[in-house]
Amino acid sequence: MLDLLRERLKETAKTAARIGAPDWLLGELTTTKRILNMKIRLRRNGKSVFFNAIRVHHVNPYSTGGYPYKGGIRFHPGVTQDLLTVLAMDMTDKCALAGLPFGGAKGGIALSPSDYSELELRGIVEQMTFEMLKDNIPHPDIDVPGPDMGVDSRVMFWMFHKVAEMAHFRPVPNALAVVTGKPLGRGGIPGREEATARGALIQLRKFADLSRTPYTTLAVQGFGNVGSNIARLVDAEQDFAHYKILAVSDEHGGVYRAQGLDLHSLFAWYATHKKVSDYPGGDAISNKELLELPVDVLLPAAIERQITKANAPAICAKLIVEAANEAITLEASEILFDRKVPVIPDISANAGGVVVSSLEWRKNRGDRPHQVDYEADKLWVVNELTAIMERVITKVYQKSNELHCSMTDAASIIAMETIRDDLAFKHSYST
Ligand code: NAD
Repeated sequence: MLDLLRERLKETAKTAARIGAPDWLLGELTTTKRILNMKIRLRRNGKSVFFNAIRVHHVNPYSTGGYPYKGGIRFHPGVTQDLLTVLAMDMTDKCALAGLPFGGAKGGIALSPSDYSELELRGIVEQMTFEMLKDNIPHPDIDVPGPDMGVDSRVMFWMFHKVAEMAHFRPVPNALAVVTGKPLGRGGIPGREEATARGALIQLRKFADLSRTPYTTLAVQGFGNVGSNIARLVDAEQDFAHYKILAVSDEHGGVYRAQGLDLHSLFAWYATHKKVSDYPGGDAISNKELLELPVDVLLPAAIERQITKANAPAICAKLIVEAANEAITLEASEILFDRKVPVIPDISANAGGVVVSSLEWRKNRGDRPHQVDYEADKLWVVNELTAIMERVITKVYQKSNELHCSMTDAASIIAMETIRDDLAFKHSYST
């Protein structure tokens, strides 16, 4: 079993003990509803290459008729069934914490998208979608995938298109609502692209208000959807203009400038070179060095297990916003709490993605008039996202103060209590 899964199960048991959870709840939360494994074949240079596509459904505290499982699709070499199980568990908690009526899911394939041509990638995505269709997913009422690492709006459009194309084989009541994260003009919604980044910044700003602490300088690990959009929003929007980004990184390494990076010139460099590591407008640093920089706020926005017991004592940031899932290990979390370094945990900090996905799903189902009006939709998205993210961090902050625990523990407790009450209602369990 992957260490991360073992640790995640330990974390669930710890939260369960803390709230005095009944046995049935621990049973529900430490098992998965179903795991779909699909063989995908690609013909390449006259040879066959095989992939295992996986979709995990963890727990759906709501009725599956109408309230689907929700969770991203990840294309990354590190994808395994255990990792996807952990990420599906995180999705269950995240939806419960944000009050979204979805179950937790995750899917993916162990591959690096940049190793394949667009045509090859589309073939892989279409086969995966076809295999899923045989199991009646994706479906607006059963399972609605969205984007995660290595997956963009193009991939989500290919999935949607395959479902629409196969309507004679498996009719879907509302094909647009089968996936979220689609491109604008193809069922997508304004603001989904940068939703996770915006959500993390909204919670950073709100936490600063709640704790009456001014934060200015930031270091961002990861320059993909989440990391680069954090930089883009800081660069472009008045609401976040008081932040100064001192360092960014990607898988190749990072760059640091004590006076703040010139983000305009960084984006221009990135457009040509597709990496930030050799950007000449600052000093080259490693990912390890970035994590230990003396900044106000550290935003890990790349991959899991970046802050561990090995480097937690060396973290100099005054606040961590865990934008990536599972970026901080359980032991590191305890060290940071002892060191009085507050952490806005992943299930709170990066919930913006699924919050805006839920708006896209609602719009696709006709819960909002469907005319194309970019500005009105954008305003709707930003207002809803702001209200939900601020409410979530406020609840987490208050709970952590009330229980004298970390915000990580507080968020897990709120999520588990919500799931307990919903599952008890659904299955007539006694609490
Ligand atoms: P992405 O694939 O767009 O970007 C990932 C970035 O991380 C890239 O810049 C990559 O170079 C970098 N990276 C990869 N391995 C690294 C390493 N070992 N060290 C340093 N950098 C590394 O992915 P993303 O969508 O931005 O997702 C980032 C994190 O945010 C993931 O944990 C993901 O699950 C989480 N998340 C994403 C969304 C979303 O809407 N995209 C929503 C919620 C959570």
